[in-house]
Amino acid sequence: MIKNEGIEKIIDESQQGSSLTLEKNEKNNRKLYIESYGCHMNFSDSEIVASILAKEGFNTTQKLEEADLVLVNTCSIREKAELTVRKRLEKFNAVKKTNPGMKVGVLGCMAERLKNKFLEEEKIVDMVVGPDAYKDLPNLIQEIDEGRSAVNVILSKDETYGDVAPVRLNSNGVTALVSITRGCDNMCTFCVVPFTRGRERSRNPQSILEEVNDLWERGFKEITLLGQNVDSYLWYGGGMKKDYEKATEMQKATSVNFANLLELVAKVQPKMRIRFSTSNPQDMTLDVIESMAKYENICNSIHLPVQSGSNRILKAMNRLHTREEYFELIDNIRKIIPDCGISQDMIAGFPTETEEDHQDTLSLMEYVKYDFGFMFAYSERPGTLAERKLDDDIPEQIKKRRLQEIIEMQRKHSFYRTQRHVGKIEEVLIEGFSKKSDAHWMGRNSQNTVVVFPKENYKVGDFVHVKINECTSATLIGEAVEYSKNN
Ligand code: SAM
Repeated sequence: MIKNEGIEKIIDESQQGSSLTLEKNEKNNRKLYIESYGCHMNFSDSEIVASILAKEGFNTTQKLEEADLVLVNTCSIREKAELTVRKRLEKFNAVKKTNPGMKVGVLGCMAERLKNKFLEEEKIVDMVVGPDAYKDLPNLIQEIDEGRSAVNVILSKDETYGDVAPVRLNSNGVTALVSITRGCDNMCTFCVVPFTRGRERSRNPQSILEEVNDLWERGFKEITLLGQNVDSYLWYGGGMKKDYEKATEMQKATSVNFANLLELVAKVQPKMRIRFSTSNPQDMTLDVIESMAKYENICNSIHLPVQSGSNRILKAMNRLHTREEYFELIDNIRKIIPDCGISQDMIAGFPTETEEDHQDTLSLMEYVKYDFGFMFAYSERPGTLAERKLDDDIPEQIKKRRLQEIIEMQRKHSFYRTQRHVGKIEEVLIEGFSKKSDAHWMGRNSQNTVVVFPKENYKVGDFVHVKINECTSATLIGEAVEYSKNN
């Protein structure tokens, strides 16, 4: 299953740039149009922003032309992501000419990366707000209402938005994202995230459990715990992960790590399905895999980006593990959870990558045989360590050819993996209509593979046992057998 092919990393391709709506509050009289790009984290952040603005008199609209405030939540991970947003800003500028009262704000990673540049050089923007400054939105909006431009791109040491109950935008009412960490301390040399999202902080487990309970009460059946590097989660009373060393003995003794958090969440709602993303191999420990095996409601699925199969390139990327250590982790996962779905992120054409390095990537893939993957051509990002220290020396054509070979291999392995489900009966949570047929439901099995089957009398949110009859490389096709005991 190829989730995307070198284009921007997505939750669901159809959601990229979608405008988000929530229930109308009759007392609110201003209209907000909010569009999101990039990773899960950005979509989750837009829910926090909409929640803050609902208290400031805004209802969401899907009509750009009638908006009082247009917000675009942006992504900087690859150059292409930024170009897409720049095109959208041109469109907003054109609409602004017919609706001069309309204000435009840039949120997220591009706001952080480019800061005042948006206000100074690209006069179409009224407001620039970084990922840690959303609580300041009421003040910033007041500034722009009074005719001044406004900017807040301060990165925080402790902001986790744990006290903001996110509204669920464009929700299917079944699956929800729950943010558990912010920022990243890993300093992978290709990656802009540490610069745009700041240092790593973990959210209070109590507020996470409250959010999970609230989602269950409201009928949600599956949550994804979100962070750039979830396995690095560490709550010791608040503050940055890097300051843990300075914590008191008491704080250390009562700290909560990711394996502990998983268990707490699994126990607080034993029927809620739990997923998490993203895991960094260097931080994923055996106790996490053991917690997954222990609780039936934690899905058997791990997204474990590796980026390259070459030890030399892994080192140049500052990924703090070797190919051999990665294999050991994969072997442990397969030993403890034999039917675990495993997915990857891969980068083709990192500076200095030779054909031999590329072959190492292909042979690593051959060993793991991932269920699916997100694959990208290397895109040099300003300010990253790779940009400062290394030449982007792999010609575009070679990057593309290597990427294509990686994608082809993934397609083969995805089919190998989906075929192994055929003939089995698997539990599926129904999320909504199948994109291709109104007569079929679409859901996912524990391994995160899409399953479609005829609707019969089942409904969205039901857990159903489905007999898998056939497959493509991306989808399992089956028929419902009965309700699962999880309902
Ligand atoms: N935190 C996760 C990790 O470290 O594995 C994922 C971070 S990133 C938001 C998602 C993916 O984008 C990465 O895993 C990587 O494959 C890709 N990516 C990041 N920077 C990139 C770059 N400069 N060029 C191409 N792909 C990139």
